[in-house]
Amino acid sequence: MSLITVGSVAFDAIESPYGKTDKIIGGAGTYITLATSYFGANPKVVSVVGGDFPNVALEMLKNHGADVEGIQIKADEKTFFWSGKYHNDMNSRDTLVTELNVLEKFDPIIPRNYQDADFLMLGNLAPTVQRTVIERLSQRPKLIVMDTMNFWMDIMLDELLKTIALVDVLVINDEEARQLSGEYSLVRAAKKVMAMGPKFLIIKKGEHGALLFHKDQIFSAPALPLEEVFDPTGAGDTFAGGFIGHLHKTGDISFENMKTAVIMGSVMASFTVEKFGTDRLQYLSQEDIDNRVEKFVQLTKFSS
Ligand code: AMP
Repeated sequence: MSLITVGSVAFDAIESPYGKTDKIIGGAGTYITLATSYFGANPKVVSVVGGDFPNVALEMLKNHGADVEGIQIKADEKTFFWSGKYHNDMNSRDTLVTELNVLEKFDPIIPRNYQDADFLMLGNLAPTVQRTVIERLSQRPKLIVMDTMNFWMDIMLDELLKTIALVDVLVINDEEARQLSGEYSLVRAAKKVMAMGPKFLIIKKGEHGALLFHKDQIFSAPALPLEEVFDPTGAGDTFAGGFIGHLHKTGDISFENMKTAVIMGSVMASFTVEKFGTDRLQYLSQEDIDNRVEKFVQLTKFSS
């Protein structure tokens, strides 16, 4: 079994009440890839960077077992750059800068040894690019999970709807679910979004956890209450990586197993927010992960 991860591999600059970073390594594809690597995935990455992107960062992905053959290097261009500033509540942020650079004309290449992948994680990117990846696979994967954001709803809704119609699981946050459906109630919003194509929908609610929907069934997962959140950047991507990483590892795409996968996503995201950028996610041990899974078990255990 194999897994393809698609998403930005980027430079980020972050400001939070805890401090400020210069350009550091980020990008949705980076967080997703690192998170899946802890589930033995050897993810096959599809992305693009510029000539300014450090080789050591690609080596870091390789050291996590990633196949980076599908990361194009455009020597004469610049890497995607994003900068954001978090408010005091750490739940909301302003985007300060989005320089698309190499992403502007990104034409994804799928290396031959990526074909036949049975799991596909489409990280947040232009919906046209996400669809191109699906179209360039000779065989439809067993499971396609897609992340997106309000930015695409604002500027490319028609394209976004065409791509959403092709996937099995859509991962969005509460604000995006409301925008996409025009419904305030998340239960109603979920019904409308699932009617657009995906059989499963995950609605992330930041520090309040996540909801998984399938037909009339709902599963609710908490986020781990943490004393300090340094930098939420990449939490959503890490969540998606943990989610698909668990499904890929077990090979089971039932609703029951997706409940565990949502917890695994929440476990992985709880690490990312503890330090800036990928500083925590890069250096996890299996023991760290197991201990945190146990915390989630204790957090939600009760007798009726
Ligand atoms: P998240 O905090 O989960 O929303 O993801 C943050 C990551 O997404 C950052 O590392 C950014 O580099 C990346 N990102 C932000 N905006 C975009 C965009 N328009 N396209 C692709 N990646 C983006």
